[in-house]
Amino acid sequence: MGKVLIIGAGGVATVAAHKVAQNADVFTDIMIASRTLSKCDAIVKAIGNPTIKTAQVDADDVEQLVALFESFRPDIVMNLALPYQDLTIMDACLRTGVNYLDTANYEPKDEAHFEYSWQWAYKERFEQAGLTAILGCGFDPGVTSVYTAYAAKHHFDEIHYLDIVDCNAGNHHKAFATNFNPEINIREITQKGLYWENGKWIETEPLEIHRPLTYPRVGARESYLLHHEELESLVKNYPTIKRARFWMTFGQEYLTHLRVIQNIGMASIVPIDYNGMQIVPLQFLKAVLPNPQELGENYDGETSIGCRIRGVKDGKERTYYVYNNCSHRAAYEETGMQGVSYTTGVPAMIGAMMFLKGIWRKAGVFNVEEFDPDPFMEQLNKQGLPWHEIFDGDLEL
Ligand code: NDP
Repeated sequence: MGKVLIIGAGGVATVAAHKVAQNADVFTDIMIASRTLSKCDAIVKAIGNPTIKTAQVDADDVEQLVALFESFRPDIVMNLALPYQDLTIMDACLRTGVNYLDTANYEPKDEAHFEYSWQWAYKERFEQAGLTAILGCGFDPGVTSVYTAYAAKHHFDEIHYLDIVDCNAGNHHKAFATNFNPEINIREITQKGLYWENGKWIETEPLEIHRPLTYPRVGARESYLLHHEELESLVKNYPTIKRARFWMTFGQEYLTHLRVIQNIGMASIVPIDYNGMQIVPLQFLKAVLPNPQELGENYDGETSIGCRIRGVKDGKERTYYVYNNCSHRAAYEETGMQGVSYTTGVPAMIGAMMFLKGIWRKAGVFNVEEFDPDPFMEQLNKQGLPWHEIFDGDLEL
């Protein structure tokens, strides 16, 4: 049905490559390209399908990307590198007539700040080129946005309150590690909190607002209000939303390490001079922390991520909770990666599948909630991320 090029060879790309290879009726030709060729080759070896091609590319360099796209001629590129590469890859897509998908919105390297404006600015150019760009197709953003679209389509006339709740109740048995790229992860968590209420954004100090929330099959976990990118597009696409918030769980041990890291300046992204060399403390920290790709082996427990929604249907108030629980061990047994990479890589594959099947295909730049959620929800059940619903329960929020 179509040719796919995966860019990146980290945890998320590894899972996506496994799932793409499992759906050979849709993905007829596959290439994995990243900065380090040996990592792409290792993924192909782990999958055991020698027809998957590999290539070396620096995705910060548009000319290198253009040359690669012209030689492989993919139908769609799955950008599973880092948010820093979003714009260069989108530029190369426009130059070569290739469709685009990613899991995280653009972030400049020298400023810990993410927002959609940079990528939404490509809308007209993608429209004019007749190309599709699918933004934020991981779990959060991604599945949480599709859950919201599904709720709006089937269960509500108006959504009023949206709380996205993200719990990782897993244990990797390390003193401190992040579940995806440490640099991106620590930049996200140490930012100020932000939520939407009554038509405006309200800022909080980092991790200032928190409360225990109860997660299915997990129990109560302290959950912290964070700014998360899908809130920006969801409040725009669902203007009836009065309040939208994002919550993530953290253990005390994790928070203590994070506080120390910040207090000693290791979370800084301002370059310092070290023995005549410019180094960024956070990038150095990444180099000494455990590699998220290697956490899988001893990871037990599960993730539980979902949307808690309150609104009205047929004139009556109702609540709805839709969620998935994902076992780290099951993810590792299937793909060699832990649950956080799994919950991101599977939806990325489904998004590309939706495009190649012609179901999610329109010219322009879109967040995932702007497409029909039903076929995507159906695939979540088939591809390893089954979802569950609770109607009119206590949302705690
Ligand atoms: P990793 O750090 O494990 O992998 C990133 C990969 O990108 C590495 O293979 C790296 O190469 C490659 N890369 C980095 N820079 C370049 C470059 N200039 N050119 C080519 N390749 C490059 O990250 P993850 O797999 O954990 O995360 C991947 C993406 O998924 C991130 O954008 C992250 O924010 C996003 N994410 C989204 C989630 C969601 O739910 N929406 C959840 C979790 C992650 P090398 O191996 O040489 O370092």
